[in-house]
Amino acid sequence: MSKRDFYEILGVPKNASDEEIKKAYRKLAMKYHPDRNQGDTARPAEEKFKEAKEAYEMLSDPQKRAAYDQYGHAGVDPNMRGPGTAGAEGFGGFAEAFGDIFGEMFGQQRGRGAGGRQVYRGSDLSYAMEISLEDAARGKDAQIRIPSWEGCDTCHGSGAKPGTSPKVCATCRGSGTVQMRQGVFSVQQTCPHCRGTGKIIPEPCPACHGQGRIKKQKTLEVRIPAGIDSGMRIRSTGNGEPGTNGGPPGDLYIEIRLKKHDIFERNGDDLHCQVPVSFITAALGGEIEVPTLAGKAAIDIPEGTQAGKQFRLRGKGIKGVRASYPGDLYCHIAVETPVKLTEHQRKLLHELEDSLKKGGARHSPSGESWTDRLKNFFS
Ligand SMILES: [Zn+2]
Ligand SMILES: [Zn+2]
Repeated sequence: MSKRDFYEILGVPKNASDEEIKKAYRKLAMKYHPDRNQGDTARPAEEKFKEAKEAYEMLSDPQKRAAYDQYGHAGVDPNMRGPGTAGAEGFGGFAEAFGDIFGEMFGQQRGRGAGGRQVYRGSDLSYAMEISLEDAARGKDAQIRIPSWEGCDTCHGSGAKPGTSPKVCATCRGSGTVQMRQGVFSVQQTCPHCRGTGKIIPEPCPACHGQGRIKKQKTLEVRIPAGIDSGMRIRSTGNGEPGTNGGPPGDLYIEIRLKKHDIFERNGDDLHCQVPVSFITAALGGEIEVPTLAGKAAIDIPEGTQAGKQFRLRGKGIKGVRASYPGDLYCHIAVETPVKLTEHQRKLLHELEDSLKKGGARHSPSGESWTDRLKNFFS
């Protein structure tokens, strides 16, 4: 089943304002509320609600909305997770599905801070980290610089210009919420005037622009576990953005990307590498040296080894984060054709060629079947 357009689901035009999107979503949430949809209509209503919730989540987030406008569903599909879509995955049951909007509307889910104000958890942050294959295999302790927020020294956290003070919001009388009638419900909403803080700052502090805190940088120690791979995320609890009105902070997600390696290519827990071998060694067989993450190793290749043949070194791959055993290393033989030959060397090769021709097809393992295939192709 193809996914419906998010704008179509909410019934709003493509250039709808945030306010229009929110309003449209509220209307649908009311319509498909479980209290109003018992029995036969319960299931379809739940589906409709989830659909509306997903559309609202995408379109109410400026980053996700931009991605959706540009790339459609592929831009915001959690299965094709890029930065900015973290946390968008999964829809739980009704309780979770209704948590967001009804929490906001009835003031239940998000909890209450001192003075009955709405508290909100801070947003999660995402940090991309590029590491070498060696570090990924062995694990390492890394230091990263991340944003952190400190109380503003100028206003001591009040957000008001020194000498002035925040005033109690007249709209909500400091409660941070207002009552509104919406259909059969009497709805409690975050106060639009003070945005739920209960305070109005007439003259904002010039140092922090009324935020009461200043964005700085801090160094964080991160332990990268051995075996980590591209696309994996490490969560650092509480190191995201601070919450609002004393709400808990969000989390920081460190997204790992592996740098391209000169020698090895990683595929899951296995490693692959190309090993150049002279055509003489390939023909006669012999010991060749191959690289592994733990140092050099030697393998015996048999007489008559063909180009592209692979040799597996068991356990010489990478031990994944949750794996019990390490993966394997595959050495792919790349037979080298000699270049810049001297006259004498050319003569030797011609002699060799004559001698091989005399021996017929038995010196050429793919020769006979190749000739047959060509014959069939041209006939
Ligand atoms: Zn300040
Ligand atoms: Zn207010």
